[in-house]
Amino acid sequence: MKTNQALAQRDLAVLWHPCTQMHDHETMPMIPIKKGRGVWLEDFDGNRYLDAVSSWWVNLFGHGNADINAALKDQLDNLEHVIFAGFTHESAIKLAEKLVEVTPDGLTRCFYADNGSAAVEVALKMSFHYWRNQGRAAKTKFITLENSYHGETLGALAVGNVPLYKETYAPLLMDVISVPSPDCYHREVGESWADYSIRRFELMEQTLQQHADSVCAVIIEPLVQCAGSMRMYDVVYLKLLREACDKYQVHLIADEIAVGFGRTGTLFACEQAAITPDFMCLSKGLTGGYLPLSAVMTTDVMYQAFYDDYVKLSAFLHSHSYTGNALACRAGVATLEIFQQQGIIEKNRSLAQIMAKVVAARFHDHPHVAEVRQTGMILAIELVKNKATREPYPWQERRGVKVYQYALSKGVLLRPLGNVIYFMPPYIITEEELILLAEVAWQGIQHAVKA
Ligand SMILES: *Cc1c(COP(=O)(O)O)cnc(C)c1O
Repeated sequence: MKTNQALAQRDLAVLWHPCTQMHDHETMPMIPIKKGRGVWLEDFDGNRYLDAVSSWWVNLFGHGNADINAALKDQLDNLEHVIFAGFTHESAIKLAEKLVEVTPDGLTRCFYADNGSAAVEVALKMSFHYWRNQGRAAKTKFITLENSYHGETLGALAVGNVPLYKETYAPLLMDVISVPSPDCYHREVGESWADYSIRRFELMEQTLQQHADSVCAVIIEPLVQCAGSMRMYDVVYLKLLREACDKYQVHLIADEIAVGFGRTGTLFACEQAAITPDFMCLSKGLTGGYLPLSAVMTTDVMYQAFYDDYVKLSAFLHSHSYTGNALACRAGVATLEIFQQQGIIEKNRSLAQIMAKVVAARFHDHPHVAEVRQTGMILAIELVKNKATREPYPWQERRGVKVYQYALSKGVLLRPLGNVIYFMPPYIITEEELILLAEVAWQGIQHAVKA
């Protein structure tokens, strides 16, 4: 008997889920999904849910996408996977060629890993190792922004800065230099995003000036600190940072794992600043939300610094068993073909405008909404206890969870970050579905702010 309840019971007997206090499932039912089509998920009792968070930001073109399905079926009939050292395959080559073509000029090398955190580890190690190969072994540190998120493995966690995920493990983590964020939620009344971001950049500049000799790289999430409550900042910060990194001889690592592939209005967020980072980390949308894969794009300068006789021991001896997995790479190729053939970036521009019109406008004046902010296909609503002072709700009250539960009961999957409700839908969402989303979010907020 395959009902929600029967499957949930079996699940809870043997599974341990990510980012979850499993005890919560004594009161909140686990939802077993039977089928996904487009923006909709269907459970075993026949309920449907609009996937407004793209299944943790990975899904771009809907579940069960016909083009990606067809590509994967073809790949499956030929090659599922092969060792990626000494051997290669066509899908890995094609995807790398396409990534070199579509990422900012100068990113000419692609190193694969199998998830976002692993890509961050690769970029950190490569940066450090580059300086070491250059005889600059004193460069061992990384600069990160407050409120940033770069993944959960120990290196990635160390360069992240969300206390909820990080604090427990602090004794295990390498030391990093944290710089206050340009997060524009904290700008003064009347101050523009650009002015605030420029003002905040002074702190970064000072830090670089002071520590350049011991710093390998600055790592940032361009434009939106996603896991850090979808906090946003101005593109001018990226331009200033690129200039300063050049000036102080420090690498710039752009973690576009969440914001890449069209989320911010351009294929990559760095495009808006017309900058090329030294390393660009990609994952999440890379396979259209189908399979785990990540890539670190880097420059020829970086590549050449490792290229020498084996006996010099200057090679980058890092690997993952599933590096360059053929199925995942093929899904990546199919994903980039959809971008190239179906005018997705232009379509997203009008979708983002619709989202602003049907969602944002309405929530501004809500007595418990401090801010509605949007960057491209990411829209966030910040709930607070007191609109005037921006005093937040105590986290223990878990208002966001109330929105989550209410929305589920109305057939919408929202998964707020604390008290921040956000929409990050697949790019195939329709205007009617956005209207539904806005309506359910509104009712959910009304429900959650009641005493
Ligand atoms: C999700 C995320 C990661 C980590 O990726 P995983 O595949 O979950 O390990 C790293 N950086 C950013 C910006 C992310 O959003």
